[in-house]
Amino acid sequence: MPGKIVLLPEDLTNKIAAGEVIERPASIIKELLENSLDAGATEISVVLDEGGCGGIQLKDNGTGIVPAEVPLAFCRFATSKIYEFDDLYQVRSYGFRGEALPSIASIARVEMLTRPAGAIAGTKIVVQNGQVEEISEVGCPPGTQLKISEIFSNVPVRKKFLKSRNAEQKLCLEAVSRLVLPHNSLRIKVETAGKALLSLPATRNLTERIALLVDHDLPDKLIPIDKTQGDISLKGYITQPSFSRTNSKQIQFYVNNRFVRDHLLQHAVMTACRHLIDQKRYPLAYLFLEIPPPQVDVNVHPAKLEVRFRHPQDIYHLVVTALGMAMAGQALSPTARRPFEPDQKPFSDYDVRVREAIRRYNVSTGRDKTVFYPRLSPKTGEPDSPAGPDPGLFPEAEPAPPGRLKFADLEYLGQHGASYLVFSAPGGLVILDQHAAHERIIFEDLKQKRPSKTDGAGQILLLPEVVSLSPADFSLFLEIKDFLAETGLEIEPFGNDMVVIRSLPLFLKGEDPRRIILDILDDLPELKSNKALEEKRERVLIALACRKSFTARERLTPAEAADLCRILDDTPNGYTCPHGRPVSVMLSANDLDRMFKRR
Ligand code: ADP
Ligand code: MG
Repeated sequence: MPGKIVLLPEDLTNKIAAGEVIERPASIIKELLENSLDAGATEISVVLDEGGCGGIQLKDNGTGIVPAEVPLAFCRFATSKIYEFDDLYQVRSYGFRGEALPSIASIARVEMLTRPAGAIAGTKIVVQNGQVEEISEVGCPPGTQLKISEIFSNVPVRKKFLKSRNAEQKLCLEAVSRLVLPHNSLRIKVETAGKALLSLPATRNLTERIALLVDHDLPDKLIPIDKTQGDISLKGYITQPSFSRTNSKQIQFYVNNRFVRDHLLQHAVMTACRHLIDQKRYPLAYLFLEIPPPQVDVNVHPAKLEVRFRHPQDIYHLVVTALGMAMAGQALSPTARRPFEPDQKPFSDYDVRVREAIRRYNVSTGRDKTVFYPRLSPKTGEPDSPAGPDPGLFPEAEPAPPGRLKFADLEYLGQHGASYLVFSAPGGLVILDQHAAHERIIFEDLKQKRPSKTDGAGQILLLPEVVSLSPADFSLFLEIKDFLAETGLEIEPFGNDMVVIRSLPLFLKGEDPRRIILDILDDLPELKSNKALEEKRERVLIALACRKSFTARERLTPAEAADLCRILDDTPNGYTCPHGRPVSVMLSANDLDRMFKRR
């Protein structure tokens, strides 16, 4: 039975609130950097200890805090950024709730040195467990320095939820990258144990910043976006359709310079790109929405990662239009200039896709601005395919029965769409997804180190390929390098976030080596510290096996189909792909009868 109602003591309420705002070292970095940016800093340096888990130091050259206000900065709801309720709807600063510093100080030890440029002396304050332990006058350079240590030492459960140091470090770097991307004149350095993880000079423009943060080759591939509609504007860049990634991480949205995650915006991007880029691939996009602050509520999420728009349809429409037009314009221009020649194929495959995208774009936004929102799949965040088969069409289709069925024994009927093999089985019709089968076979071979079957031994590249990685990807790369080498994919660090690819496994022969490594790094779900080594290795192997399947769309001769069946019959777990999707489904005689209304 619950007891009587009491008011919780402040140190406890602070800890509870901290739980929402400060989840991990990366959240601390985010809050501190936001404060520095709000304070007008143009130069920031950060030191991470043990991926941020061991401690975080930050130094900025911002406005600093006057001595009298230093203790206030650590009080909940103490802020210099808003003064009355209505200000909430005019905020342009990152912070306004006055909760970051007290939250951090409730779960860690915080030491701050701060001095406004005009003040004679600075102030030092140490706060731990929400209590001020020391406050004194000190000499220090103008600006603010923070030293956060003993992170989560008084909330051990939080500590257990942290990932490996490398993974936390990657999250910290991602947080830094997202935050500093729009501030191209800011200089920032992040280092660990004396080694620079990120060192960004002030850049002249956004594209240079993107090049340094994401990929040196990216600027050539970017299409500029610039469109205004009433008092809302969208600026930024999206990659040309030929340049894409396997996940949507690099579709980044900023609303009034604040990085946000938003399904609606994400969906608008995918709508604009649909049919322009390969299925299951995503563009890279850096998009900046400027909107009058009263039309957007930024106070709806603990870490302010989500916002709420007053008129979401207008924004959706603007994004789809702006991107659709920019991409279509870019893609069509070479063809549009070329005169039509009758003996030439009038449209390339690519042009057809562009036209289709434009057609769809017209359908989905319409003239009357009725917006079409297919449901987002909760798992992938991708739109549920509106063009997919009627979900009622194969109601009974289920994975073919394991154990009893040998593919080699079935009667092979043929191949559909360079993707599916169709068989007649005693119990019904069996459809095999050749890509999923391939993934499973390669994965099992890699797992059991049977290079002879997958030709897993490396093939040395005649010209080793140098690839520049983002700092975050580079950290991840170091963690998985040995697992990759084991498959024949030999990649070595090459200074300054560069790697050099020396050899490829034969099963990836002929593929673009840089795309392989970028895709694999993109693909890897966060490798948790509590995962056993073998499990980490498996994740890497799955990413590799599935990388192959992207290019596996091919016509098979009956002999090749028979080979695939034979190998699959020999492969453990041959009924699902390594991600758990079915390799084959069976339509039983009953199912068929029901579909044709024979019963
Ligand atoms: P908020 O950012 O929501 O105002 P915080 O708890 O993050 O709340 O910070 C409290 C206050 O401390 C800020 O409003 C600001 O006045 C001051 N402050 C914090 N960090 C800095 C900094 N790096 N430079 C100058 N002032 C700072
Ligand atoms: Mg703040």
